[in-house]
Amino acid sequence: MERPRILTGDRPTGRLHLGHYVGTLANRVRLQDTYQCFFIIADLHMLTTKYEYLAEVGRDVRELVLDYLAVGIDPNKSTTYLQSQVPEVTELATIFSMLVSVPRLQRVPTLKEVMRDLRIGTASLGLLSYPVLQAADILMVRASLVPVGKDQASHVEVTREIAQRFNALYGDVFPVPEALIGDVPTLPGTNGTAKMSKSLDNAIYLADDPGTVQRRVMGMYTDPTRIHSTDPGHLKGNPVFIYHDVFNPNKAEVAELKARYRAGKVGDVEVKRRLVEALTAFLAPIQERRRQFAEQPSLVEAILRQGSELARQEARRTLVDAKRAMGLDYFSASFARDD
Ligand code: ATP
Ligand code: MG
Repeated sequence: MERPRILTGDRPTGRLHLGHYVGTLANRVRLQDTYQCFFIIADLHMLTTKYEYLAEVGRDVRELVLDYLAVGIDPNKSTTYLQSQVPEVTELATIFSMLVSVPRLQRVPTLKEVMRDLRIGTASLGLLSYPVLQAADILMVRASLVPVGKDQASHVEVTREIAQRFNALYGDVFPVPEALIGDVPTLPGTNGTAKMSKSLDNAIYLADDPGTVQRRVMGMYTDPTRIHSTDPGHLKGNPVFIYHDVFNPNKAEVAELKARYRAGKVGDVEVKRRLVEALTAFLAPIQERRRQFAEQPSLVEAILRQGSELARQEARRTLVDAKRAMGLDYFSASFARDD
């Protein structure tokens, strides 16, 4: 029997960070044996917020694929492809755009967040319909599971509504997919903001060398109410301890640090120093794999070429089925034949 399918991915807007890892990459790696996985490099979605400096996109795509390989995504088990190499997806998105209202899309919370964070005054039509294009990506390969960070759950909800509406109008063509949120739904940024994000300059990247990790951790936001290391510290909303909980496998050490912190018996510097050690150890095998793959210059291109070809075959098949269900398959059915 065919394995159920996953679709998820990233916009090629820069290297991947710890937030991506806990939000979605860990799930991708874990599920690649049980699911047939499609990983999309969403370069059309990139255009919703970044259409200048496109000269860099080739490099960003390559870095992204190297990050995938580094965390353990196996190109022999999964399909990684470029969204813009599958033009059928835009046709499906056009069809889907008839099935969702403008106010519905205006209510999607990420729209307001992106506009606030990137200081966008008025949304373009493309930014507004971001979730519609995403629905087309997901349903094009008939994915039933979408491993994403919590910020993306509202987008998967739009996909579900579109699939349900399409199926109700034209018959059962699409699965109604579920979002799979990572162990840490949203990893906060090093500056204490709610979300680590490429565009907010508050990230620790999977490819950061030990010196950079150290610099970023030592500069991290902690408990602002604590002036001296003898003041009792707060753990809630303190990203240093959130990262310890997630990335430090030595649970006894974390428990001990927390107890001493609450009691005002340990300085921020020591807590951070131990975090640097934990993160460096976590990143070392990832970076070793990255180095090995980076030495094979034609690998990334081969993965993307083959992946995009396969995704496109899926897309063509799905589009034929969708249009047939809608009665849009003129030449095979709708026109009467002479013979
Ligand atoms: P950008 O700033 O360009 O939007 P980003 O860092 O927000 O970049 P995306 O490409 O938007 O990253 O997200 C890719 C995937 O990673 C999505 O599934 C998203 O939910 C997840 N993700 C991103 N940041 C985090 C985070 N801090 N915690 C958990 N998941 C995250
Ligand atoms: Mg984002």
